Amino acid sequence: MLLLRRRLARALDELRGHHPHPGVHPRDRNPTYKEKQENLEGRDLSTYGFLGYPVLQAADILLYKGDYVPVGVDQLPHLELTREITRRFNALYKPVFPEPQALLTEIPKVPGTDGRKMSKSYNNTINLSDSEATVRAKLKTMVTDPARVRRTDKGNPDVCPVFTLHKSASQQGVIDRVNKECRTAEIGCLDCKGLLADALVARLTPVWEKRRELVQKPKLVDEVIAAGTKKASAVAQQTIAEVNDAMKMG
Ligand code: SF4
Repeated sequence: MLLLRRRLARALDELRGHHPHPGVHPRDRNPTYKEKQENLEGRDLSTYGFLGYPVLQAADILLYKGDYVPVGVDQLPHLELTREITRRFNALYKPVFPEPQALLTEIPKVPGTDGRKMSKSYNNTINLSDSEATVRAKLKTMVTDPARVRRTDKGNPDVCPVFTLHKSASQQGVIDRVNKECRTAEIGCLDCKGLLADALVARLTPVWEKRRELVQKPKLVDEVIAAGTKKASAVAQQTIAEVNDAMKMG
């Protein structure tokens, strides 16, 4: 499967040779790449491995001819690049791929505990595998409205990442309460985070239970993965055959 992914990525990368502005590949303009370069200090990201990653992402989508891709708003530039690659491939060779559309979630950008987008690279994630104690501890350190310094200061939930998480996890009554009481300083940030922790724990508890159950059944997990791989592999083989045919490659 990895091989098929790489083969398609290589084929898509061939399109660089057909780009009208040599030396300025569309992926070089990718804002996510630029954002990572700015945010990940001390790591040399000027490598092809990092720069070429969006092409691998395109291969992941196109290998299965995805019509819709569930993405966060920060991934839209990547998807746009995939769409550009799709159009270019279809026009140059044969219309093999559908042009994938974005399927934006209700909360298009989930903030991490430091307020930046939640990302493993930023070490600011709340993981599905975290324990309840860890989730609560992480939320306690989460950044809030930076202008609300003292408990008596009135806050602005519209600029607070904690409130964004409330909107994705809490009941409407809690969201309305925080939205009102933050602005009047009736509720403090610690209490607000406690409400968020309760909501997240309520949502994650069934996930934790299922996880515990599956950990006891490694054979079942292996079987599910093998069945999924078989199904996906058949689709990928078919796509590669169509790509080879379109590009007139053996
Ligand atoms: S009360 Fe809640 S929403 Fe308001 S600033 Fe504090 S953490 Fe953010």
